[in-house]
Parts: sequence; structure tokens; C-alpha cells
Amino acid sequence: MPKGTIIKALSGYYYVKSEEENEIYQCRGRGNFRKRKLTPLVGDEVEFESTNQTDGYVMEIFERKNELIRPPVANVDQALIIFSARRPSFKSLLLDRFLVHIEANEILPVICVSKLDLLEDDTEIAKELAVYRRVGYQVLETSSTEDKGLEEVRALFDNKVTVIAGQSGVGKSTLLNSLNPDLNLETNDISDHLGRGKHTTRHVELIPFGDGLVADTPGFSSLDFIDIEPEDLSIYFPEMRDLRPECKFRGCTHISEPKCAVKEALENDEIAQFRYDHYVQFLQEIKDQKRRY
Ligand code: ZN
Repeated sequence: MPKGTIIKALSGYYYVKSEEENEIYQCRGRGNFRKRKLTPLVGDEVEFESTNQTDGYVMEIFERKNELIRPPVANVDQALIIFSARRPSFKSLLLDRFLVHIEANEILPVICVSKLDLLEDDTEIAKELAVYRRVGYQVLETSSTEDKGLEEVRALFDNKVTVIAGQSGVGKSTLLNSLNPDLNLETNDISDHLGRGKHTTRHVELIPFGDGLVADTPGFSSLDFIDIEPEDLSIYFPEMRDLRPECKFRGCTHISEPKCAVKEALENDEIAQFRYDHYVQFLQEIKDQKRRY
């Protein structure tokens, strides 16, 4: 039976891109999915049956690696977080917020800084980006106007399912359209574009991009920490994650507990102060939220 990936779900139909010949098949879900409480999702890898391109059936859904709620996509390989160097200016607090959410969803984050040409002095941002690289993140520096770093970004999409994230107004669609003119993303910046008008159902679609697929709806539009427990927050900061077992107390929140390996690393400059400060701020937000519910 042929295999493929669901790239679009609309009005009860699933559009499956076949693995073999890259054709799109319009399919319905197999009748017993409902009984088994299964809903096929965009991004699902499936087996399907079809004699022609418009009357197929999705027969089996393979196990998911992960599953995003907003947008509803399964099997996301990576999130490309686009931030601009200027207009709006680079904000590491917001970037860290995205990173925590992406880490919590077990998706690989890749940081892409755009509009670097607008920066007269890049010492500050270079320092911050060095911290992210040291933590282990891949950081790409780009400028669409100067055609800088675009090849690197383009190569990133191959054989992967990518969700785009990032602050609004950074020119996500401009960047993506300049990488792939076939993409033709809507003129509005995709992240500023949460509703698609009152009368259309919001849906997500995976668009072929090189040898990969990109979600046409931005991910992680809601950035509150509702599903994160205070003692788990440091799991989503890679530089703290590795140190957690060395803290004296299990469930250490790295604030005022004695013999805390994270605080020790902070004092030795092995953890950047601004990352730790953001951690403390997020921890407080999580605690405040728990109190409210
Ligand atoms: Zn600790």
C-alpha cells in the first residue's frame, strides 16, 4: 500500500502527498478511525489506498513523533524562529519564551536573525547570539536585501517538516518568499495573520519547500506557560538541563536552594546572566499562574 504525508485537511478530505511520485491524492478517513478515536492530522505519515487521485482512503496512521495544537500539525521536525535584528529590535526575552515552548514540545529550534543590514553596530547582538550558540542552538544570520545567509536557511528545509515562529513584523513571509518564489505566501506577514476572515475555517497546510514541507501558519502564537510545572522549567534551558542532576535537591528550582549546580555555574559565568534572569522571570509567571487556577 502506498505511503504518504497528509499536507492538508479540509471539509472531511485529507490531501496526501505520496512518498513515491510526489502526487497529491484526495482521500477520506477510513470509517473505523472514529471508533478508534483517531483524527488524522496534517503532518501525519499514513498508508492510503487509491485507484485515482480523487477517491482515496487513508487506511493507517503511523505513530506520531509529536503533535502541535496550534497550528494542529503532527511530526514537526524543527521550528525556525525568525527574529529581526532591528525594526522591531532583537529581544532575547521573547526569544527565550519561544525557545522554552518549542523545547517543551520536543521540537528542535533553529534561530534565524533577519534584517542584519539594518544594524550599524552589531557588537551587542553578536554577544547575545554567541550565548545561544554556546548553549547548542544553531543560529543563522541573514539579510534578504544583501542576500546574506539565505543559502543556509534554504538548506535547512530539506527532508524536514518545519514550523515558522517568531515575533510579528519581522518579515517572515518576505524572507521565505525570497528563498522560494514558488511559495507565494500571502502578502501579510504570516505571523500577523491569525484569522483568515470570519467565514473561513482556519486550517493549516504544509507547503512543499525544496525537498521539505513548511506549515503556512505560524506556530506558538500563544506563549503562556500553562502546561509547564515550576520544577520542570529548567529542562527547557539546555545549559541548565545538564546540571540538574548535580543539584543537591531533587526538584531544585535553582533560586535559593543550597548546593545548587545551576547557581554555581552562574557564578562561574558558565551560564549567561540574561538567560538566568529570564528563567527566574518565567518561573515567577508559572507560579503566579498556578496560584490563579
Ligand atoms: Zn539547582
